[in-house]
Amino acid sequence: MRLSVIGCGYLGAVHAAAMASIGHDVVGIDVDERKVAQLAAGKAPFFEPGLEELLVEGVQSGRLRFTTDTSAAFGASVHFIGVGTPQQKGGYAADLTYVDAAVDGLLPYLSPGDIVAGKSTVPVGTAATLAPRIGAKGATLVWNPEFLREGWAVKDTIDPDRLVAGVPEGDDGVRAADVLREVYHPAVAKQTPFIVTDYATAELVKVAANAFLATKISFINAMAEIAEVTGADVTQLADAIGHDARIGRRFLGAGIGFGGGCLPKDIRAFSARAEELGRGESVAFLREMDAINLRRRDRAVELVVQALGGSVFEKNVTVLGAAFKPHSDDIRDSPALDVAVRLYGLGAAVTITDPAAIENARRIHPQLTYVEDRDEALRGADAVIVVTEWDEYRRQLSPEAAGALVSGRVVVDGRNCLDAAAWRRAGWTYYGMGRP
Ligand code: NAD
Repeated sequence: MRLSVIGCGYLGAVHAAAMASIGHDVVGIDVDERKVAQLAAGKAPFFEPGLEELLVEGVQSGRLRFTTDTSAAFGASVHFIGVGTPQQKGGYAADLTYVDAAVDGLLPYLSPGDIVAGKSTVPVGTAATLAPRIGAKGATLVWNPEFLREGWAVKDTIDPDRLVAGVPEGDDGVRAADVLREVYHPAVAKQTPFIVTDYATAELVKVAANAFLATKISFINAMAEIAEVTGADVTQLADAIGHDARIGRRFLGAGIGFGGGCLPKDIRAFSARAEELGRGESVAFLREMDAINLRRRDRAVELVVQALGGSVFEKNVTVLGAAFKPHSDDIRDSPALDVAVRLYGLGAAVTITDPAAIENARRIHPQLTYVEDRDEALRGADAVIVVTEWDEYRRQLSPEAAGALVSGRVVVDGRNCLDAAAWRRAGWTYYGMGRP
């Protein structure tokens, strides 16, 4: 099938490459000339395992190309919209200007019978307002939310755990769902659940999923706060409640909380939209989840200050991690970087290292010192804080070897990802989140 993908960021670039890899003829369209040039040369503009291989293969096969020219969408039968929906400046609601611009830019190149598939995360009600504009061209809008996880985006796009298609009523909707089944043929052939809904449900599925995940993380972080005043250990608590299959252990990792380009802005946009709909109270708890989440960053900073005897002023603090999570170079609303910046603000000499995100972090926070090599970054540290649970820190860093590099064996485990007993045995003073 001929497909266009409008917006080639973390979602769209992977989508375009993945669709080409399953046999489609794909054009990726983005307004960012630099990004398009990189993609067209088979280079991933961001770190995503497996993406570059797919780009090279797609570009070389001729099935995948990238351009800034929206007219290239003409002739494709399915057009995916994957542009950003960031938080509005000065408010909680989602900024839909990019979605609007992408749809307006696409309209002249739509042909009757085309399908426009929205993948961006949008406030419920958005599809219903866009549908008439697309319908006027004889095309049909479907809402096809994306659930990929950065770091696993290639696998999640080709082999998702479910597919959701929000379609209009009637024959157009039935046909649109069938077209999407054809697009995602390998997943459909594997009996991947394919859930056909109306627009509002499809839009809500995405924000509800993110609200649930954020709530689960903030729940365990709330328990960490209670553990901290009672001497309990939240990691044991999580293990114990996680054995209950109704609860499950995943997403019960207490630490410095969630960040990134999705969860924070999505729960805020959901609150804002619920308020517009007169149902703010239904998701009022999301404000609390957001507040718990942000408090954990304060706590991590507090622990470093405490660990260094009440002040970090002119102390060497090595921050392990900058990305909002491992296997990604994404630093959007990264708790790791936030903690680093706050320590810097308190007068610490902060050195940061990260296997993938240094370049992005340096662009936003040039005042911090970045060191590529982990061991070099550890040299002379008065305290070390782990803020992104990369394997390089979690599994591959021996407390003995690290101990030989630092000035002071003080470690704050902002992700509860280190073996506390092993670090203590190696002579480190270990501080966890919600742990004695
Ligand atoms: P991003 O900022 O990485 O990418 C957005 C891209 O859209 C940018 O490259 C930008 O240049 C481009 N763009 C903006 N306006 C355009 C226009 N008019 N025409 C063509 N291109 C345009 O953002 P992202 O992380 O890829 O997220 C995109 C959407 O997908 C958001 O709604 C997000 O919530 C959702 N989403 C993201 C993820 C994720 O893990 N990143 C997962 C699921 C859903």
